[in-house]
Amino acid sequence: MSSKEFNYERAWKEFVVPKIAKFTETERTIVTLLAVSLKDKHQEHNLNIKIDKPEAELLEQLSTEQLFRIGKLCHDYTDLKPGKEKRDGLDKFEWIGIGWKIENVCNQEIATREDRMEVSGLFPKGDRISWDVYEQFMEWPKGSKEEFIMNFFKRTKVEETYGLIFEAIQSYEFDPHLYMITGKHLKYSDSGMLSEYEIERMERQHGPLCGMKGCNLLFSEHTHKEGPMMRLTRNIEEEKVVEFVKRYAKFLKRNKLVGVCFNEKQFKILQKGKDV
Ligand SMILES: [Zn+2]
Repeated sequence: MSSKEFNYERAWKEFVVPKIAKFTETERTIVTLLAVSLKDKHQEHNLNIKIDKPEAELLEQLSTEQLFRIGKLCHDYTDLKPGKEKRDGLDKFEWIGIGWKIENVCNQEIATREDRMEVSGLFPKGDRISWDVYEQFMEWPKGSKEEFIMNFFKRTKVEETYGLIFEAIQSYEFDPHLYMITGKHLKYSDSGMLSEYEIERMERQHGPLCGMKGCNLLFSEHTHKEGPMMRLTRNIEEEKVVEFVKRYAKFLKRNKLVGVCFNEKQFKILQKGKDV
């Protein structure tokens, strides 16, 4: 059997279970509370599960990326799970069997935030499923976070109100440093697509692979912060910038964005009493 051949049991064991084991304490708590809350709820005519206040309050605490990841993993934990006896001690999770309900409410919350209904949780079915397809399906689509942020700022008229245009998500404060890809990654790779999943799979097999001299840390042990880079389209008073940051604080936090950067190449933030 080629290692690229898709196998439901292997996907569950090698992909879903380790990722669920890596949920943060907060994620685990939210998922457990959601599970308890959703246990006796059923699908309505529109195929959704009704979100009441308790569920809404839990979902609101998750970033859009977290909703996407948690929803899909919970769904697949239930859907791909092989026979009962092979659960690897994960029975301690109270939400077994209702993963699809968690996914359903996560998708509803994403749809509300994104103002569109394209986020589908349907598992790619049929004979043609491959590891590549599965990996793509499980990953927050490349660029989609930036697109989402950009659309949100457009919709809420950030340019008109504040003279700011979203440029990109800026990564900074790499801890301990930016993870370094090397020739070893390419050599060990099955697919040649170095996704997070692929790197973690190779590291399980070969140990830490970061190319930085003396570094012995796993991919997941390299972290960084992210914030939006906003370009000024006119000179703006400092109070206006502060107002912008305050107005969007909740949205940014929810999307794990901290420390807004301002591109002042062309225009300036005018500080009181200092400017011409
Ligand atoms: Zn490193």
